[in-house]
Amino acid sequence: MRCKKLSTYSFEIGAIRPPSEGGSYSLLIRATRNCPWNRCKFCYGMSYNHERFQLRTVEEIKKDIQAARAISDEIKNVSWQLGFSGQINRPVGAHIIQREPELRDSYSFFNVFDWLSFGGRTAFLQDADSLTMRTPDLIEVVKYLKETFPGLQRITSYARAKTIYHKKLDELKDIRGAGLNRLHVGLESGDDELLKHFDKGVTAEQHIIAGRKAREAGFEFSAYVMPGLGGRTKSEQHAKNTARVLNEINPHYIRLRPFIPRPNTPSFDEYQMGGFELTSPH
Ligand code: SF4
Repeated sequence: MRCKKLSTYSFEIGAIRPPSEGGSYSLLIRATRNCPWNRCKFCYGMSYNHERFQLRTVEEIKKDIQAARAISDEIKNVSWQLGFSGQINRPVGAHIIQREPELRDSYSFFNVFDWLSFGGRTAFLQDADSLTMRTPDLIEVVKYLKETFPGLQRITSYARAKTIYHKKLDELKDIRGAGLNRLHVGLESGDDELLKHFDKGVTAEQHIIAGRKAREAGFEFSAYVMPGLGGRTKSEQHAKNTARVLNEINPHYIRLRPFIPRPNTPSFDEYQMGGFELTSPH
């Protein structure tokens, strides 16, 4: 059987994904580029640098999915040729890299290879807020992804609470029905003063409405909370109000991502100028 050159296929991969999607080696499909808000003071300039937000066309995204499929097919072919019956393991990877050393620099190849070796069951739509896409476009992408990879059991995405808040319940249900299972949402805090200070662009009440709406639509809801965001002086109100909002939403998952002022962000400048006193680890 003739081998296809894997280095002729590639697809776009964005900067970040949730840790849990790295743990399960999710296939990464970039539905949009960067963040449509890009103003949160602890994040601006870091997660997506200063890149402007861009929607991608459905055709563009489908081409990426086709490229991922072509890479996946050829990796499986090599496995069969080597006598591993489709199993994806180190000898298969080593053989491919020996055949095409240029693949050492290919994020696309390694993403598909790792994803297959982990069972090929989960996918994550990048970047920061896929729900900001037109609902029919997002549905088409999710359906096409499932058709192309019928073995997918979970498709997830980041979503801004404000976007969920503005989306109609029926639209959310349709997106869920198409096959998007889980939303990863940066709650950060349930305290209005802190949400405003860090320019999260959403209020505690909107967080609650968005979270409940997503759950009602059938999504698994994964909320990210940022311990330490209140600093020394507002730690207690941060904790109490965040607990209140979480109890109102009752998310499936609560993940903690402690606040650290990262260089190049407005929060770092504020910290350096003495405007923010970090909490101790305790
Ligand atoms: S919405 Fe998320 S990705 Fe966008 S600026 Fe805020 S924290 Fe960063």
